[in-house]
Amino acid sequence: MICSNLTTIKKKITAAAQGCNRNPGDVRLVAVSKKMDVKLIQQACDCGQILFGENYLQEAKGKINQLDKKLKWHFIGHLQSNKARQAAELFQVIETVDRLKIARLLDKHAGELGKKLDILIQVNIAGEQQKAGISPERTRELITNISELANLHVRGLMMIPPFTKTPEESRPWFHQVKQLSIDLAQKELFHDNESVELSMGMSGDFTVAIEEGATLVRVGTAIFGPRPN
Ligand SMILES: *Cc1c(COP(=O)(O)O)cnc(C)c1O
Repeated sequence: MICSNLTTIKKKITAAAQGCNRNPGDVRLVAVSKKMDVKLIQQACDCGQILFGENYLQEAKGKINQLDKKLKWHFIGHLQSNKARQAAELFQVIETVDRLKIARLLDKHAGELGKKLDILIQVNIAGEQQKAGISPERTRELITNISELANLHVRGLMMIPPFTKTPEESRPWFHQVKQLSIDLAQKELFHDNESVELSMGMSGDFTVAIEEGATLVRVGTAIFGPRPN
């Protein structure tokens, strides 16, 4: 089941990329495995999936330690200060940096671990009160400040659009984040301004996100089925 789901999603990724003249190889699938048992993650791994996303530090730690070291992990949840050290240790990319305080902590811990840590800036594109993320207006200032931190590399932006009934309704939000990334890349604010990561799109709307420029799509339910509560 997981294998055929992965195959179906990869076909959709390829079709969406080709449909807008993008290279399918420029879009990576992050398999979101939060609340899913290690056995299911192992199944996905056996089907060739290497990149996974997790939201909760404690839960992720248990899984990462049990699974093959070749797997790559992106942190996509809300990161608390007291978990920054473990996050810097366990994850290849922290996708949800939205404040200088957490960036400073990640930088410090990455330094102690002797590594450079890739991060994305989570943008609250629609200014939703209840949602994490920096406002688009303040994103430039945040990245400028983070650029001074020696052990962090700002690779791009991450976003979660407002809830909508249809994927098409998310398109303008994806588009706005893409435009923001273009502005910021022109000002040379990213670590590599030639290849800026855009993490956007989930099970319901990843094809639309790809059409608007996503380089990372975070897909959970469409791979693993509904999550237990
Ligand atoms: C859970 C989650 C996803 C995956 O959502 P699905 O609808 O199950 O694909 C993607 N991104 C974030 C930030 C999540 O928390």
